Amino acid sequence: MRNQIAFVFMIVVSLLYPVWCYGPERYRPIVRSPELEQSKQQLEELPTVVVVTTGGTIAEKASPKTGGAVPALTGHTLGDAVAGLDKLAHIQVVAFSNIDSSHMTPEMWNKLSETVDEILRKPEVTGVVVTHGTDTMAEGAYFLDLTLTSEKPVVFVGAMRDVSDLSPDGPANIYNAVLQVTSPEAQQFGVTVTLNQYINSARYVRKTETTNVQTFNSGENGYLGYIAMGKVHKFHDRISEIKLPRPKKLAQVALLKTYAGDDGGFVRYAVDNGAQGIVVEAVGAGNVNPDVFAAIKYALEKKVVVAITTRVFNGAVYPIYGDVGGGKSLQDAGAILVGDMISPKARLLLMLALSNKATLEDIKGYFVFR
Ligand code: ASP
Repeated sequence: MRNQIAFVFMIVVSLLYPVWCYGPERYRPIVRSPELEQSKQQLEELPTVVVVTTGGTIAEKASPKTGGAVPALTGHTLGDAVAGLDKLAHIQVVAFSNIDSSHMTPEMWNKLSETVDEILRKPEVTGVVVTHGTDTMAEGAYFLDLTLTSEKPVVFVGAMRDVSDLSPDGPANIYNAVLQVTSPEAQQFGVTVTLNQYINSARYVRKTETTNVQTFNSGENGYLGYIAMGKVHKFHDRISEIKLPRPKKLAQVALLKTYAGDDGGFVRYAVDNGAQGIVVEAVGAGNVNPDVFAAIKYALEKKVVVAITTRVFNGAVYPIYGDVGGGKSLQDAGAILVGDMISPKARLLLMLALSNKATLEDIKGYFVFR
């Protein structure tokens, strides 16, 4: 009898055990462990971050055909390579493009700005991470900083080493960017460029190294913050903020670098070929030679707006020199000295200002050196 009971018990157990292990929920007694419930709840309460992918080294790998790095990875693959990302946020991916950023245009940034603003209008979205190539990332980030209407955090991120490199820097950069978007300390930064743990404002960031992972810095204006040990260490909030509406069509603005012996021909060519604005990258504190000065006066007579930047890495342009072509004489002639803004960004700001029919006084106001 006892054997029969034991035998029946064994049958019952062997029948129920798989149900216990693998069977439908409703058969399994619910083990309500507070940790499990809490972690499930925490996962549900995670913020939503949208990763908008545009391409760049972060999504490139060596191609046997060309022997060089080419765009290859899709947005989802990028996210999958980042361990622990799903513990930080619910990640959604929007593939905007997959190009090397040397192929980017202001028209594409105008479209990207519209796309990002649309995403940020969704109440459940906490912020956006834009993956982008580093070659023109500083300008792309600045274009969005000027045109986005949403105040939610937007972080541009990329990589200096592609995925076939020995130690790609992309995954850690994406992780830190998502961490930054979801951090309360990082809500007043405006659009940033965040690579190698350093947080740079879109206004002051520039690429300083062609291959080194520590390529981005903000010169004399410094970093906004640093990311370490899973935390954003804030140094200060954004310094300057200019907002301009996204135009339907962007004005034509040339960017010309002057040099010793320059005869001013390129300035005249730009005027004669429809430029509404010209950024002249001058030398020193914002000086050009007499031929270029004459060409700039020709442009100003034709109502073309001329902005003066410098090729010098640090410092700003000032009305110091009163000689022919000196900063003072350029300003007196009606050219705008842009302070400490680098040339590619001055071009985008002038483009947006002219596209929005800004007056000369407005434009001078945008370039005021604080
Ligand atoms: N050529 C690449 C790009 O800008 C460089 C990089 O992403 O690091 O798209």
